[in-house]
Amino acid sequence: MTEFDEIIIGQGLAGTTLAWQLLDRGRRVLVIDRAEAGTSSRLAAGLITPITGQRLTVSWRFPEFHSAAVNFYRSIEARTGSRLLHADGAVRLWQNERETEVFARRRADEAGFAALVAELSPLPDAISTGPGGFEMPSAARLNVPLFLNVSRAEFQRHCAYCEADVDPADDLVVEPNGVGISRLGVFGQTVVFCQGIAATENSWFRGVEFDATRGEILTVAIPQLTERRTLHRGVWLASLGDGRFRLGATSRWDQLNEGPTEGGRDWLCTRLSEFLRGGFEIVGHDAGVRPIVKGRHPLLGRHPALPQLAYFNGLGSKGSLQAPAMAAQLAAHLVDGTPLDPAVDLNLRTGCR
Ligand SMILES: Cc1cc2nc3c(=O)[nH]c(=O)nc-3n(C[C@H](O)[C@H](O)[C@H](O)COP(=O)(O)OP(=O)(O)OC[C@H]3O[C@@H](n4cnc5c(N)ncnc54)[C@H](O)[C@@H]3O)c2cc1C
Repeated sequence: MTEFDEIIIGQGLAGTTLAWQLLDRGRRVLVIDRAEAGTSSRLAAGLITPITGQRLTVSWRFPEFHSAAVNFYRSIEARTGSRLLHADGAVRLWQNERETEVFARRRADEAGFAALVAELSPLPDAISTGPGGFEMPSAARLNVPLFLNVSRAEFQRHCAYCEADVDPADDLVVEPNGVGISRLGVFGQTVVFCQGIAATENSWFRGVEFDATRGEILTVAIPQLTERRTLHRGVWLASLGDGRFRLGATSRWDQLNEGPTEGGRDWLCTRLSEFLRGGFEIVGHDAGVRPIVKGRHPLLGRHPALPQLAYFNGLGSKGSLQAPAMAAQLAAHLVDGTPLDPAVDLNLRTGCR
């Protein structure tokens, strides 16, 4: 058996950020992933957006998580020689008068809100600005598939990656000093499950309740539009370069396993037509599931009865923003026993036994 300090199951945003944090602490890490297409991280647009929703809600702990995310992704860029984070900002266009009122009130009353917004600067002719909007200069976009790919290559270089489909119920032998996966010939002091929505099948953590949503995204070609900022108006439109954009996203609580639908496509196209002048061509259509847990904040920590097993999930629709800070916190907890923030502590928020 090859021994590791931590074995991570799942190489999405959660598993990848955690692996980097543990490797940086000098740990012997193995990441196991079944390399499936269409996972949440592989589909995600990677948007990091400070203010979202009709109520113009500031994302939970945005300044703290944003700073951790930017520092983290920039450090991975430097190590891997790749451009991962596109910090081009975002534009929010008004949909109705109520939004302008909420905006004016919050900007006047809340310094934290005011610090995240700026006046709208001109948009290209292909965009119908309508009554206007505001800018979010700190908004950014992570190229998530590239981040996962360059990280995987780096883990492989350090013999810290293995492609396999692990059955949590049948493959794991939990012993007092760790966990063996004999089929793969590996033993870890701790196994950390970073499985995203697949964790609903994990019987070790039955106490975690999911509130997941399915989202559909289109990839569209708009040759007449040269805009790097992400545009939000009911939907978002994020540039991939070369006249291609991602357009998203729908959100449904039912039929989680359904793939792309005609209804989803039509809804996205209609919303885009409300602010885009000229035509566009659909070149891709995907659907995936956001791993949202009850309580909505991420969930981290060791199993209450079997501390050899740990958990990192619930990144919801904000994986790119929250994963680096959460991974740093979990790594400090696993390695040094640093207490977890109660807001994300699995033991305080779930009925895992
Ligand atoms: C349509 C859509 C749009 C989104 N847009 C954004 C966005 O703009 N910005 C943003 O921040 N977030 C966005 N998200 C959410 C974001 O993608 C998630 O927060 C994030 O991907 C969750 O990462 P994860 O690592 O927890 O899960 P996943 O990405 O699902 O990763 C889990 C990994 O574990 C592997 N795995 C699972 N079980 C096993 C097993 N038994 N053995 C081996 N491997 C296993 C899976 O194959 C997968 O690779 C979006 C999600 C969707 C669906």
